[in-house]
Amino acid sequence: MPIQTPYYLVDMGALQANLQQAARLRELSGAKIQLALKCFATWAAFDLMRAYLDGSTSSSLYELKLGREKFGGETHAYSVAWAGHEIDEAVAHADKIIFNSVSQLERLGARAAAIPRGLRLNPGVSASGYDLADPARPFSRLGESDPARAEAVIEQLDGFMIHNNCENRDFARFDRLLGQVEERFAPLLERVSWVSLGGGIHFTAAGYPLEALAARLRRFAQRHGVQVYLEPGEALVQGAGSLEVTVLDTLYHGKHLAIVDAATEAHMPDLLLYGAAARIEPNRGAHRYMVCGKTCLAGDVFGEYDFPEPLVPGSRLSLRDAAGYTMVKKNWFNGVAMPAIALKDLDGGIRVVREFGYQDFVGSLG
Ligand SMILES: *Cc1c(COP(=O)(O)O)cnc(C)c1O
Repeated sequence: MPIQTPYYLVDMGALQANLQQAARLRELSGAKIQLALKCFATWAAFDLMRAYLDGSTSSSLYELKLGREKFGGETHAYSVAWAGHEIDEAVAHADKIIFNSVSQLERLGARAAAIPRGLRLNPGVSASGYDLADPARPFSRLGESDPARAEAVIEQLDGFMIHNNCENRDFARFDRLLGQVEERFAPLLERVSWVSLGGGIHFTAAGYPLEALAARLRRFAQRHGVQVYLEPGEALVQGAGSLEVTVLDTLYHGKHLAIVDAATEAHMPDLLLYGAAARIEPNRGAHRYMVCGKTCLAGDVFGEYDFPEPLVPGSRLSLRDAAGYTMVKKNWFNGVAMPAIALKDLDGGIRVVREFGYQDFVGSLG
């Protein structure tokens, strides 16, 4: 029986190809690689993923616990701000804990003394084209930018985390940014044993010079005497997921419109946040449609595409690039049916690993 749409489909073969790149980078560079759960936390895929990676990193207590329970390996804890009531539980589940500010370290650091403690640094430069996602934006709360303030607490620190890349496919740009990090923080880097360089490096993009990146990371590690960590999210899952939908209605209001059984804000919210269109392939043919979601939001539009045949109710569409920042962000806006999660296994078989129903909707409210 065909699977009822909408559903997210994770392609384990495409995922494995990314993971193989990650494993190669790990081997060539000596860096350890942690999956950033905030991007992708579909734990049914972790059995495959953990063989290629060192562990996971988190942005909250719940992600941390999920990483410990479902991924295993080395489990890093980070939060923009830990609550006092969270810290003991966080320490109990983490192999390392990273504080976002000197004030958090001063207030809660003593309760985390049993495990290695790190501090997030903000170099004040980034590779992000979007103000919304730019850790170096004005008045940023993400990390300590003053080397002197970090130095004042260095005795409590084993490492640093710096995350200032975002979908960066340009190795030369990464190289320059890392150079700027070194200029600003080199005397501090030498005094700790590990440095996490965060996520956002798109080393799985076609044509990315993996060897050059690996050599740069190795030099960085040797120069400062540190173990380097990377925390990729999107780079590990890019091209490895789709949102499978069905056309429910077609209209002509100056343009041909097709309404599908999913929604941007509820199921691929980054499209709205970043003003982007979903990708549908091959996007060729004589029939152009604006593909729209089924919520009441007027701008619930996935994009405009060309199709070889007219769309009719029942036509199936596959919205690409739907693995990262989708399943972790989906919500119940409009009470629209939440897409199930299915995996396409390495042998080509498809299995549904999670379905959501009315009771889940009810249970998300009270
Ligand atoms: C978002 C984030 C990541 C993962 O970023 P990607 O762009 O998905 O690779 C890693 N580390 C930190 C601290 C983050 O905030």
